[in-house]
Amino acid sequence: MRHYTQFYIDGAWVDPVTPQTAEVINPATEAVSGTIALGSPADVDRAVAAARRAFAGWSVSTVAERLDLLRTIQGVYTRRMQELGEAVTEEMGAPIALGTGFHVGLGAGHLQTAIEVLESFRFEEQRGPTLLRREPIGVCGLITPWNWPLNQVTVKVFPALATGCTSVLKPPQLAPYSAQILAEILHEAGVPAGVFNMVQGQGSVIGAALSRHPDVDMISFTGSEPVGVQISKDAADTVKRVGLELGGKSAWIVLDDEDLAANVAAATGGMMVNAGQTCSAGSRLLVPKARMAEALAAARDAANGVAVGDPLGEVGMGPVVSKGQWNVVQDYIRKGIEEGAELIAGGPGRPEGLDKGFYCKPTVFKASNNMVIAREEIFGPVLVIIGYDDTDHAVEIANDSPFGLGGYVSGRDREAAIALARRMRTGAIWVNGGFDFHAPFGGYKRSGNGREWGEHGFHEYLEVKSIIG
Ligand code: NAD
Repeated sequence: MRHYTQFYIDGAWVDPVTPQTAEVINPATEAVSGTIALGSPADVDRAVAAARRAFAGWSVSTVAERLDLLRTIQGVYTRRMQELGEAVTEEMGAPIALGTGFHVGLGAGHLQTAIEVLESFRFEEQRGPTLLRREPIGVCGLITPWNWPLNQVTVKVFPALATGCTSVLKPPQLAPYSAQILAEILHEAGVPAGVFNMVQGQGSVIGAALSRHPDVDMISFTGSEPVGVQISKDAADTVKRVGLELGGKSAWIVLDDEDLAANVAAATGGMMVNAGQTCSAGSRLLVPKARMAEALAAARDAANGVAVGDPLGEVGMGPVVSKGQWNVVQDYIRKGIEEGAELIAGGPGRPEGLDKGFYCKPTVFKASNNMVIAREEIFGPVLVIIGYDDTDHAVEIANDSPFGLGGYVSGRDREAAIALARRMRTGAIWVNGGFDFHAPFGGYKRSGNGREWGEHGFHEYLEVKSIIG
């Protein structure tokens, strides 16, 4: 059992102003795995005041000092990676190999990337008669979701530190453990008092208090669209900058070539990673209509081949994060059946043999793009397959979505794939796989307005000043 009953404020672990705790549920067992403290606006006031005091010094720290600190953090982070991964598995149900592998690796990658970017970042440059300066924006409120909990915290905390900002982190209530360990890591590495602070608790209390706080200069939010909208409204009265990384319904276009079945299998497997709880998941798979039967067979085999079970075992998919999320996924599966989508694999209920834990069946539908299951983000292991007539039609379907976060194109003809990628209205497109920590990540349309990762992630935390003449 884990008991995290204190917040990290002004360089120390402190009790909440008003004691209140909540249980954290292990999604694999439905048992209580620990408790966390729930904060109040008074805790936010303390954390913001500490961050404001620390900003005076940290904002004028040298690049060398910040690099030193990030490298020290890297040493401690590396030592505690196994523990972090175990915490991710316990809090949100990722298979342990994924938790201690990719989840933790993403955090390590963002840390290394922040170091690399900081080594050569130009905070000041002369442009004609103007001296252009990029200065830390101030005190930042960082609000994060539960699905890739460590990724989303680290992609905010390290750029904020690297650019000379101070911050108050509000981790997700459903998955609070890995953030708690990260705070311990930052403390051990010697982050100066007040530069980083963390208050756990409910979004509607802590997140809202940060968004409205007159002494917070910007909010970086990752999460759902409705909450992003609410935060923007809450932040409007104090004219804060708000960076939004929201949901998606990303298209994966498989080209009509000889690798079709293998690419469909890869896309189906990809959808089930992290139990489909990935904002940029390729949840709409677009295949040539003429080869639909071949595509459906490949998707069925791939979905049925995903081993679902105890995330501490050797499985491909664990549970979804919570009972609430399980219900959401079940509702969408039922909705898909009701609206006439053809069920190809999976379906409602738990997989056979699993009667406890928030497990879903890896599910595939053949659908059309106007169905609810093709338009709304399900955030679970549910793939919809849609047929296209030709590549123009594929692009049209891909772009016919309220979202624009990710996208995928696979096929042998790389040039043809890149030509399609150019036409897709979305923030990041992977062509035949690939991975780059320096590639900006963020959304078009209702998927948000910011860009995180790499150098672009630094700009979120910087103001631009012109000194002319
Ligand atoms: P959520 O919006 O419910 O919660 C996200 C965070 O906001 C949590 O910490 C929550 O406590 C807090 N919050 C809730 N109400 C708030 C309020 N009124 N004011 C301030 N903060 C509040 O999202 P979730 O269910 O945790 O995460 C899933 C969503 O996140 C999905 O829509 C997913 O697509 C999205 N997401 C986007 C990205 C991206 O980079 N674009 C990455 C991961 C997840």
